[in-house]
Amino acid sequence: TAALLPGIIDSMESHLRTHTCGALRGADAGKTVTLNGWVDRIRSHGGISFINLRDRYGVTQVVAGGEDGAGDGTAAGAAARAVEDISRTLKPEYCIAVEGVVRARPTDMVNAAMATGEVEVLAATIVVLSTSQVLPFQIAESRNTREELRLKYRYLDLRSPPMQERLRLRSDVTFAVRTFLHREGFLEIETPTFIRSTPEGARDYLVPSRLYPGRFYALPQSPQLFKQLLMVSGFDKYFQIARCYRDEDARGDRQPEFTQIDIELSFVNREQVLTLTEAMMAYVFEKTISITLPKTFTRFSYNEAIETYGTDKPDLRFEMKLEDFAPFVEKSGFNAFKNALAAGGAVKALVLKKAALNGKEYSRKNIDELEAHAKIYRASGLAWMRAVSAADTAMGGQGGVSANVGLEGGVSKFFQAEAADIIKKLGLEAGDYLFLVADASRKTACTALGAVRSKLGHDLGLCAPKQFAFAWVVDFPLFEWNADENRWEAAHHMFSRPQDKYLDTLEKDPGAVKGDLYDLVLNGYELASGSIRIHERELQQRIFSIVGFDPEDAEKRFGFLTEAFKYGPPPHGGIAPGLDRLVMIMAGDTSLKEVVAFPKNSFAESPLDGSPGEVDAKQLDELHLSIKP
Ligand code: ASP
Repeated sequence: TAALLPGIIDSMESHLRTHTCGALRGADAGKTVTLNGWVDRIRSHGGISFINLRDRYGVTQVVAGGEDGAGDGTAAGAAARAVEDISRTLKPEYCIAVEGVVRARPTDMVNAAMATGEVEVLAATIVVLSTSQVLPFQIAESRNTREELRLKYRYLDLRSPPMQERLRLRSDVTFAVRTFLHREGFLEIETPTFIRSTPEGARDYLVPSRLYPGRFYALPQSPQLFKQLLMVSGFDKYFQIARCYRDEDARGDRQPEFTQIDIELSFVNREQVLTLTEAMMAYVFEKTISITLPKTFTRFSYNEAIETYGTDKPDLRFEMKLEDFAPFVEKSGFNAFKNALAAGGAVKALVLKKAALNGKEYSRKNIDELEAHAKIYRASGLAWMRAVSAADTAMGGQGGVSANVGLEGGVSKFFQAEAADIIKKLGLEAGDYLFLVADASRKTACTALGAVRSKLGHDLGLCAPKQFAFAWVVDFPLFEWNADENRWEAAHHMFSRPQDKYLDTLEKDPGAVKGDLYDLVLNGYELASGSIRIHERELQQRIFSIVGFDPEDAEKRFGFLTEAFKYGPPPHGGIAPGLDRLVMIMAGDTSLKEVVAFPKNSFAESPLDGSPGEVDAKQLDELHLSIKP
């Protein structure tokens, strides 16, 4: 409960509120109150107006005018006339103060849809605190408004109850995180936003130095190096609600600046980091949206996740696992599949159950769309067949039939000999579809069919918005091959530790090295990533050189870290859940912009303040910069 405000000020004189617009109940009838808020809606019938007065706490109905004796020459009559006159001038989103008496509504007029629906306030005075021009969009319609307009007038968009609710949720989540970590003994420590450029994978945003011509600060992609330095300092449990900056190409739902719940601990193993994170998520979900999460989250190795779901961030709100189709290929006459296997690749299968179609027919056009989607993920095609009741098959119930089910359509003619086996092993029933991707690269076959799985999940409404399916993905490769630059790069970042069993063979076979890395996945999103870190100077230098920094270069960029590692660095590890993403998923949204007060648009611009903006010549001059034509 808000203890201090409102109510401590003599409102009669100041027009300041005694109550919020969400506070009054039946028991308040008879009280003289002052409300402040915005005119959400106004309806006038003759001399009487009904005003829905809104603030972030709710809406209260105000009745203005309609008094007997308005303008009858008495003082009361003059006041009643003044209220009537003012109420006639009110327009939506005027900011007003209303002083009056709370009146119980007659029982048949109680509005059960409003928390304040038992009462209304009979206005004795209305003061216009400020007026509003005609709005660029109706507040209630803001979320259906064109994005550029919404973002340009974000402050109006934010007035709408759904947006107020989102920012409230975000604040509650942040508070719950702080409470939880504080109780667990963590210290909240800020790290600088102006640092030296130490790329972690993305491009840095740079800030030119006025005092040192030709030198730049960078905005941190995350507090990674500084939180590691704090471990060297002995702050064994650190966290920060940290703003991070990454200058990446505008694609998907990215924001150039975003917020992480940044966590680092000393003297821990992977298990402890995962347990802490599970407990934190459970606490946050319970406290903010009253949802009880499982005590522990499902765990997959990276390989398992790719083989079973075709992605390292599977959406587990629905089942649909990828199956290995290779055992059925050998005897078939289908060369495209055989060739993929011969080249060391894979043939993966996905069953779409008839039940998931919910009575809908799946047309040729639907399948073409799925195939086009698979091709975005580099599949050469999407093969399919369908299980039908045997009486309906062209084979008329002979040959490839199991439990009266047969295969038809698509590539089924190559698999009639195997049909009974396929039907049995994959559990096919009449009406089910089977989708297949074959590729010489196992990963491509998996990821392309995984993309088909995700699309089906979304298209068929299998992903309930307020269901929360967490999972851990562990045992990631430490390095990825960057074919464009012809070099190994860190799959996560360069400070993550290889698993001990690979320490002797790092340089020999970087592609085989697994890291002590973990990702937290929620509903198909990567919610957090983290790792146990390298704390040995020599090991850190080996990693730098595998990813192509020569010692001098590494020294120049990261020397301050390896220098710190000369002075008794503790073993440490951490994780960093994305706050924006977490709140987005909790709110049932699919865009980060819904849960950031003032986001950039998809092109990293702000229609609100016009950033990035030009600066004047004098500013450039002071920074020793000139703009290339
Ligand atoms: N700093 C890492 C990141 O931003 C997360 C971590 O390893 O803690 O992805």
